[in-house]
Amino acid sequence: MNKKSFHFKNVSLIGAGLIGGSLARVIKREGLADRVTAYSRRPETRQRIRELGFVDNVADDIVTAVADADLVVVSVPVSASGSIAKAIGPHLRSGAIVTDTGSVKQAVIAAMGPHLPKQVHFVPGHPIAGTEDTGPDSGFDTLFQGRWCVLTPPEGTDPKAVSAITNMWTRAGSKVDLMSAAHHDMVLAITSHIPHLLAFNIVGTVSELEEQLKLEVIKYSAGGFRDFTRIAASDPEMWRDIFIENKEAVLEMLGRFSEGLAALQRSIRWEDTDDLEAKFTQTRDIRRDVIEAKQE
Ligand code: NAP
Repeated sequence: MNKKSFHFKNVSLIGAGLIGGSLARVIKREGLADRVTAYSRRPETRQRIRELGFVDNVADDIVTAVADADLVVVSVPVSASGSIAKAIGPHLRSGAIVTDTGSVKQAVIAAMGPHLPKQVHFVPGHPIAGTEDTGPDSGFDTLFQGRWCVLTPPEGTDPKAVSAITNMWTRAGSKVDLMSAAHHDMVLAITSHIPHLLAFNIVGTVSELEEQLKLEVIKYSAGGFRDFTRIAASDPEMWRDIFIENKEAVLEMLGRFSEGLAALQRSIRWEDTDDLEAKFTQTRDIRRDVIEAKQE
């Protein structure tokens, strides 16, 4: 397809922290728009975005931010996406595309969809990339390089709008997959949400240990604990939202995980070495698959 047909006049980012700020930098680098505007809720964040200078313009109110936009990217905590859609809905241009980057998709569609006018194209998205940092300073233009981005356009979404968003993520260096929001939420529950929950729990368990033992855990953390601390240092607000907004899928996968854990417990109790070895060989193979898929 002709690259030019995917060029935007005015892109507006609502939320310009790690994800929105990184995408803004990509849009500028790739020349995907004539003008990039950012809006953020707090004046101090807007001031910082101005200082960093990665967009052309910082709007002080959300209505001005979206009024001329042919693409609006909403990149705020999942629980705030509905109120953002409500605020911008009446001011969006006919034919504009709205996308988001929320880590949960069914809840975002339910929260945003009803506030977006019919003549606006809504293409929900989720870049599977991130760090434990937040805010506009943490963004960088190679964050999405070599990562997947999942789009979950509801049935009947204009294919041209889907292609335009696919092109944006491709230019960010991502590979793009399309799937239903329900499927996305189930897959992410096991690949991302449950691993984070385990990390929060393991690190939380340590924080309750007696002082001497805690010091030793920190001293010898290279034995595996260190990796959990990195994951457990992720943004508390974002993860609070993810578990609440993807409750069904997380509880379903947690049930399966608990069954697996009980089976391992049983094998250890009965010294079933064959079973333990078979299970650990299987998990090693998955690690190899992850490396081969360049998702390390
Ligand atoms: P972030 O760095 O903390 O940035 C959040 C942005 O949203 C900031 O501009 C912040 O504005 C604004 N914001 C925060 N709370 C708000 C509220 N209640 N109402 C309106 N605006 C609010 O977060 P992020 O990591 O970019 O995450 C943004 C979205 O991307 C989330 O939905 C998250 O699920 C998703 N996501 C995150 C990752 C990741 O690893 N971090 C990966 C993929 C997808 P102020 O600073 O002005 O308050």
